[in-house]
Amino acid sequence: MTLDDHQIERYSRQIILPAVGGRGQQALLASRVVLIGCGGLGCPVALGLAGAGVGHLVLVDDDQIELSNLHRQIAFTEADVGQAKVTVLAQAVAARSSTSITHVVERASEHNLSELVAEADLVIDGSDNFSTRFAVSDACVRYRKALVSGAVSGFSGQLLAQSASGRPCYRCLFEEEPDHAPRCDTEGVLPGAVLAVAGMMVQWSLLALMGRPEVPYGQLLQGDLVSGVWRSIRLPQRPDCHCHASIELKT
Ligand SMILES: [Zn+2]
Repeated sequence: MTLDDHQIERYSRQIILPAVGGRGQQALLASRVVLIGCGGLGCPVALGLAGAGVGHLVLVDDDQIELSNLHRQIAFTEADVGQAKVTVLAQAVAARSSTSITHVVERASEHNLSELVAEADLVIDGSDNFSTRFAVSDACVRYRKALVSGAVSGFSGQLLAQSASGRPCYRCLFEEEPDHAPRCDTEGVLPGAVLAVAGMMVQWSLLALMGRPEVPYGQLLQGDLVSGVWRSIRLPQRPDCHCHASIELKT
C-alpha cells in the first residue's frame, strides 16, 4: 500500500514521528482491530484509532445508550439515547474518518469471540466486567493475538498489554473473578479517569499495530487518576494458569 497525497497530509503530524513514518502509517491503514465495549473507554478509543487512520474497526457491544452514560461516553448525545451504542459509535467514526466498520450488536462471549478474534491484528478490551475480560483474554491466547485491556474503578485505572504469545495472560493476573467487582453504574466515575485510561489504550494500540518495540507487553500499568502517578508492574506468568493448561490440552 502506498500513501496518496491526501493521506500524507492528513496524517502528516504523526508520520513525521520517527516511530511512525510512512511504514507505520501504512501498517495502521492496513490494520483490523476488534474493539470490545463501546462505552466510556470504547468511545474515545474508537475515535482515536480512526483519527490515526486504522483501516478497519470491528465494534462489539450489545448495550443501548442511556442518559447516565453521556457524561463519559463522548461519542453520544441526548438524541442518541435508546439507540445501540455500536450503531451510534460507528456513525461518529464514519463522520470523522475513512475507517471501515463491522457492527456486532452482541455481547462478547466465548460463543462469538473465536470468530471475531481470529481475523484481528489486535484486540482491545474496554468492557466493564470480569467475565468478558476473561473470555477476551482466553480467545486472544487461543488465536495468538495481542491484546490491550483497560479498566477504570473510581479514581484508579489499570492497563495491560498481552503479547500475541499470550504469556503472561489476564488469568495469570486474576486467577478467578473477584467476588466484588466495582462497576461505574454502582461505584461512580469521573470522565477524566476514563479518558486518561483510554488515551493510554490508544497509544499502546497504535504502537502495537505498527510493531513497535516500545509496547510494554507483560506489564500491568496502574494509575492513580487524581495524583497522575502511574506505576508499572511486571506480570507474573503463573505456571498453573488455567488458560494455558486448557489451551494446550486442546491443541
Ligand atoms: Zn495465563
